[in-house]
Amino acid sequence: MKIVVHTGEAEQWQAALAEALPQATVLTSEAPADERKDADYLAIWKAPAHLLQEQTQLKGIINLGAGVDYLLKTPGLPSDVPIVKLRDAGMGELMADYALYGVLHFYRSMDRYLEQQQSATWKSQEVVEKNQWPVGVLGLGAIGSFVANALQQAGFPVLGWSRSPKQISGVDCFHGDDGLTELLGQVRSLITILPDTAATQHILNAERLAQLPQGASVINPGRGSLIDEQALLDALGSGNQSGHLRGALLDVFHEEPLPADNPLWQHPKVIVTPHMAAPTPLNDAIDQVISYLHAFESGEKLSTINPEAGY
Ligand code: NDP
Repeated sequence: MKIVVHTGEAEQWQAALAEALPQATVLTSEAPADERKDADYLAIWKAPAHLLQEQTQLKGIINLGAGVDYLLKTPGLPSDVPIVKLRDAGMGELMADYALYGVLHFYRSMDRYLEQQQSATWKSQEVVEKNQWPVGVLGLGAIGSFVANALQQAGFPVLGWSRSPKQISGVDCFHGDDGLTELLGQVRSLITILPDTAATQHILNAERLAQLPQGASVINPGRGSLIDEQALLDALGSGNQSGHLRGALLDVFHEEPLPADNPLWQHPKVIVTPHMAAPTPLNDAIDQVISYLHAFESGEKLSTINPEAGY
């Protein structure tokens, strides 16, 4: 079995896979072209197109992350090779921390205290009960469902939305366009953990953002494409115009790194983080990749991605 790895930590991956699979040849994408070209498996994150195009006998592709948007846009991606992606692999917990931080930031008025600090204002803000702070989670997949459960366990009423109908204990689940409208009308904080697909592009446009209650906050660790950036800026308001939304915590953007002249950097109601919400934890991910390789080799049925749906 020959595996070629391409990711930021390729040497660590190479060493871990070689140790777990002593019969396998494990190369990084830095290996000479004639050595890497007849791989059985690619374990990759943001790989260059040539690495896919030069393969002749691939049996499987393992995406070393939860989002497959980059992979699906890579020219030369074979249509007849099964693709699996990391599912949770420790990212759910990291994402839940990020989401909980975001919700607490607004729920406990940290945004207002930061503003008050500018004028040395000593003033307590009202604390409502958590059951008065419904939180919406768009996307109830491997990571989204983890986040929904964590927020529910933290005491917030949680409303979730996915493509197909779902039942998650303690979470009020919605689907479809009407379901989204119903959810948006009720939540005080909204977390978007949807994949970037044709169907989710600008799913939060001006009309959808206006459906959120006055003073709601948006937390987006999903993908930048989910939100119409200009519509978000308009909804947040600027200068003397207070805007419909209270604030946003954003981890992902249309263009990354976020250009220095993007107004989101300077907006007083926005916190920008550099796509750091849930980096792939190496040990969990390696264990999952090894189990994928065993499953591929033994002909087990794997839950592959659906390229038409885009995730
Ligand atoms: P999954 O593929 O497991 O789940 C995706 C969820 O989105 C599913 O619940 C799915 O519905 C739902 N969905 C997809 N399309 C639609 C649609 N058109 N309408 C409604 N719901 C839809 O993904 P993960 O939970 O593993 O990850 C989600 C995303 O999080 C990734 O794609 C990535 O973009 C982002 N991410 C960001 C990170 C960061 O550091 N910022 C780190 C890791 C992930 P259904 O259940 O019905 O299929």
